[in-house]
Amino acid sequence: MAEKYKNLINGKWVEPTGGKYIENRNPANWDDVIGLYPASTVEDVDTAVAAAKAAFEKWRLVPAPKRGDVLKIVGDKMLTRKDEIAFEMTREMGKVFAETKGDTQEGIDTAYYAASEGRRLFGLNAPSELPNKMNLSFRVPIGVGGFITPWNFPMAIPTWKLFPALICGNTAVFKPAELTPKTAHTLVEIIDEAMHEVLGRDYIPGVINLVHGKGSIIGERISNHPDIDLISFTGSTAVGKRINEVAGASLKRVSLELGGKNAQIVMDDANQELALEAVLWGAFGTTGQRCTATSRLILHEKIYDEFLEKLIARAGKLKLGYGNDKGVDVGPCVSESQRKTVDEYVQIGKNEDKAKLVLGGEFASDGTLKGGWFYKPTIFADVKPEMRIAKEEIFGPVLAVIKTNSLEDAVNILNNTKYGLSSSIFTNNVNDAFRAVRDIRAGITYVNGATIGAEAHMPFGGVKETGNGHREGGWTVYDFYTEWKAVYIDYSGKLQRAQIDNY
Ligand code: NAP
Ligand code: MG
Repeated sequence: MAEKYKNLINGKWVEPTGGKYIENRNPANWDDVIGLYPASTVEDVDTAVAAAKAAFEKWRLVPAPKRGDVLKIVGDKMLTRKDEIAFEMTREMGKVFAETKGDTQEGIDTAYYAASEGRRLFGLNAPSELPNKMNLSFRVPIGVGGFITPWNFPMAIPTWKLFPALICGNTAVFKPAELTPKTAHTLVEIIDEAMHEVLGRDYIPGVINLVHGKGSIIGERISNHPDIDLISFTGSTAVGKRINEVAGASLKRVSLELGGKNAQIVMDDANQELALEAVLWGAFGTTGQRCTATSRLILHEKIYDEFLEKLIARAGKLKLGYGNDKGVDVGPCVSESQRKTVDEYVQIGKNEDKAKLVLGGEFASDGTLKGGWFYKPTIFADVKPEMRIAKEEIFGPVLAVIKTNSLEDAVNILNNTKYGLSSSIFTNNVNDAFRAVRDIRAGITYVNGATIGAEAHMPFGGVKETGNGHREGGWTVYDFYTEWKAVYIDYSGKLQRAQIDNY
């Protein structure tokens, strides 16, 4: 019998009301049951929100550097457990061990950045227009945050949200993806242990609450709960729109990080070997299940045939398998339904006029791959910018190759999607590189780098339907988790009227 896990509510690990659970299985080997996780109810969310609301009144008064001490310990604990966390993450969602270690490292980087921010959280001062008066402004926490996350970065994404939220003095109700509850459990266990260690007898229950369960129940309740002040969500554009609509009714602050349809441009003067390495990593790393995955390759016509041939040869040699086994390059799709979606898009691509399937295009189920949701790395050549496979997010190991004849045309093709997350250009022409940086409409542009590889201390997010204008990561995220408070201190001893007395 698989182990039953619990929710963390008000400082206690508790069973879900209703007593129902969801199985967590290994997508590389579906017989491997990792554990049973709460199928929580609206009642569980409500208890968690009440705890977070009460905790806020205490947590906001803990000095920010002290809150930083908690996050420092969190980072240390994650570092100590890095390999174990990565192994279990690979087991529950499939990407290879090197990548789950990277995912964990991003969480560690975020912890140390947030910890140090406890000693900054700078405000701004400005002169007053009146004599003997001082103008200050500083950041104050907002209240209770609801955090809803996807399965593809089970550690990094929750940490991008929870750590800055906590350092700013907010409290949290966290609903992780159903498919990756174990990583979420470990993260919250670590945060709670660190809270106990740093605060000792002053431990505050309810600063962080973990409520597992279905998006349609737990996510919906978080979105409409009157006592939730802000929501940070990463996931699909469809669900993001739904959350925005529901949460908008009570004017919650909402940060949405949504889908992408990222492209890599390769110009005729590029270092081809480098560009090839990058597209293999960008398109097939994490089995293409990254919001920043390279889903389109825009190739200059002068190198088109030569580059494509090399790409097909190299992609065809990628080794599929269980990501915790040595030598494996590509893991499975995260679930049966995700693999089905990928296959549906491949059928759409096959039926689209003149797109040519040149690699893969089917399930991989030989030998040990039989028990998992594997899909062969797939490449479509001669794709036209208007085709569905060139415009819609697939979220799997499928690459659409499009021919271009100029920089301007390449950038137009790149921009021809409703998304705008990541982008890349390979060129050795400095003028082309700067023009591309200027004209590409995306939150992130890499020059001579793959579309993936964000660093924790830089702003992360996208334009158009990739989001609603907020950024995670770096210094920018602290604007989302705080309100600005303006303070005027008049030491003139008389009533001074701005705009009136001095004009
Ligand atoms: P998803 O289906 O949108 O799910 C994301 C989260 O939302 C899950 O926790 C899900 O719960 C929950 N949810 C589902 N329905 C909900 C509802 N009605 N109200 C509130 N929450 C609800 O996305 P996914 O399949 O997990 O992740 C893949 C998507 O995420 C892709 O589109 C990808 O591009 C995007 N993504 C974006 C970024 C970025 O930073 N821009 C990063 C990573 C991923 P369940 O687990 O129960 O379904
Ligand atoms: Mg799983």
